[in-house]
Amino acid sequence: VAAAGERTVASVCPYCGVGCQLDYHVRDDRIVEVTGREGPSNQGRLCVKGRFGFDYVRHPDRLDVPLIRIAGAAKDPADCLDPGRARAKFRTASWEEAMALAADGFARIRDGTGPQALAGFGSAKGSNEEAYLFQKLVRTGFGTNNVDHCTRLCHAASVAALLEGIGSGAVTAPFTAAVEAEVIVVIGARPTENHPVAATFLKEAAARGAKLVVMDPRGNGLDRHAAEVVRFTPGRDVALLNAILHTIVAEELYDRQYVAAQTEDFAALRAHLVAYDPAAMAPVCGVSADQLRRVARLFAGARTAMILWGMGISQSVHGTDNSRCLIALALLCGQVGRPGTGLHPLRGQNNVQGASDAGLIPMMFPDYHPVGQDTNRAMLEALWGATLDPRPGLTVVEIMQAMEQGGIRGLYVMGENPAMSDPDVTHARQALAGLAHLVVQDIFLTETAALADVVLPASAWPEKDGTVTNTNRQVQMGRAALPLPGAARQDLAIIVDLAQRLGLPWPAASPQAVFAEMAQAMPSLANITWERLAREHSVTTPCHAPDAPGEEIVFGDGFPTASGRARLVPAGLVDPAEMPDAAYPFVLTTGRQLEHWHTGAMTRRAAALDALEPEAAASLAPAELQRLGLAPGDRLRLVTRRGAIELAARADPGLPEGMVFMPFAFREAAANLLTNPQLDPYGKIPEFKYCAARVERA
Ligand code: SF4
Repeated sequence: VAAAGERTVASVCPYCGVGCQLDYHVRDDRIVEVTGREGPSNQGRLCVKGRFGFDYVRHPDRLDVPLIRIAGAAKDPADCLDPGRARAKFRTASWEEAMALAADGFARIRDGTGPQALAGFGSAKGSNEEAYLFQKLVRTGFGTNNVDHCTRLCHAASVAALLEGIGSGAVTAPFTAAVEAEVIVVIGARPTENHPVAATFLKEAAARGAKLVVMDPRGNGLDRHAAEVVRFTPGRDVALLNAILHTIVAEELYDRQYVAAQTEDFAALRAHLVAYDPAAMAPVCGVSADQLRRVARLFAGARTAMILWGMGISQSVHGTDNSRCLIALALLCGQVGRPGTGLHPLRGQNNVQGASDAGLIPMMFPDYHPVGQDTNRAMLEALWGATLDPRPGLTVVEIMQAMEQGGIRGLYVMGENPAMSDPDVTHARQALAGLAHLVVQDIFLTETAALADVVLPASAWPEKDGTVTNTNRQVQMGRAALPLPGAARQDLAIIVDLAQRLGLPWPAASPQAVFAEMAQAMPSLANITWERLAREHSVTTPCHAPDAPGEEIVFGDGFPTASGRARLVPAGLVDPAEMPDAAYPFVLTTGRQLEHWHTGAMTRRAAALDALEPEAAASLAPAELQRLGLAPGDRLRLVTRRGAIELAARADPGLPEGMVFMPFAFREAAANLLTNPQLDPYGKIPEFKYCAARVERA
């Protein structure tokens, strides 16, 4: 019951892909409290971010008026580190002046140099409607498929392997299905930090008797709930997983009937796996042959088993190979398509699934139709009233490289922060600073906005209506609880304004109208309407009837591939792109923490979260710190071939010797100054989880 003077607005958490439903409690246009709702993915639960992470919305840094760069004010990558210096290079402007400048710059490059000199980075933090309209603008207004978003830095490798193997890039079952599993494998994921409410369901399953197998080179928050803790050598996932697959095949533990009926290419996989005997792989992956065999038997002996993975699997030059092994593991044992089974890559951002579905990727239109496929492209050309390019566009890191080489001259960024999130951000910042025209639409003067020509003040999540799709394929309704500050505008209105100025005859668009158009372009949204979401809050896709809840567990009767069967794809050993050596003897790995979200733009402006984790720190094994003559709290310098940063030392007994971990949320110690931009050849995802580093006293 709302207190006097208080409103309650039902919505969804804007942070991770779990997609917890929540109630904002609003008084005097401020969120005074947030409580969990009985959503399908959270059942009333919230983590610390969902509960205490909303005061960023009214932070004094919030942008509330358009900014344009003062004539002659140089774009200097050093401004990314100094918000005051960056702000001094802008003046405020009217919307008319800012939008005219933004549109003219894009039109000049499009009509002069050509459409391929333009690109757009959309956002997995916005709504489905914003993602859809953004990619439509880039494809029809700019005339290029150079449009991407942070999925490229997150699960692109998982999606590439899933599309290849089972014909669909989404999860086959929600993480809540784990409560019915006998065995649950969690690999390359740290749910207690990154998907905390999902972690509660895994712990519950373990408490009820499920055998939890936690595979991680580092100590993991789930270890104490695990039946098997598999600590493996970083970068050696394929050796580990192939040894498990070898055992299952060699001991004939696989599900012969399922493999024969539902898969293809088993003979090739079996022949490939001969070389991966656990005894041979043990020294490679650092796990004893006994444990490799034990885990294989445990998994293959389960009636129901589920595999969940995260960016420890995908953010690697062999991320697609890692995912191929996991898909083969589930398929060999027939662990897809039944309650308590499934393949579940835990999605990072709150709407990375929905933004990808909506077409915010360069090689595919909405619903993952390749841009070169004539029939679907013709349908979209008729729907959108435009001619579409049949050639795939560039991905996030490729766009950065093209910017550096001068091929891309203009960039439109909505709600992303590549000056912090790209690998090797020294080069990324130089490339952004070198653009002829950079327009950033955001709620803060981010590190990327610091290098813009035009900055457009946009809407924060609690200020807009819109839908998002979580890691479980649940399409959920977010609702506006607060008014926009100052002259800030809705993101949808900004996109439409820009489209009109680029010559597109678009009408003003409500989220509801955009959703209706999406449903025309995307059969995956069949039977899901705006009205239904407004009423029911959440519907799972695919949904087969207007009154059905949606299909939580898919592929019980075949796969959406040409043959209807899943492909078993062998994966070979590939070294990380940069191995430790005498000059750089450590392995640096990067990631998130419970309290902060990605580049920190929101959580570092949320008082409670910033107080809980106020400082960037590099974690090492205690013995390693001692060997270096460092005590926890001392300053250290972390050096790679791409840069050096100074930050606090922290002791973490969960880290193996020879490894150092740091989070990437801190502007003053940006991890991605150090990370390696080498790409996985299939998913085009950079190797954030592994590069060679040196640790020194600062
Ligand atoms: Fe938000 Fe994720 Fe936490 Fe849920 S688990 S409250 S979606 S950050």
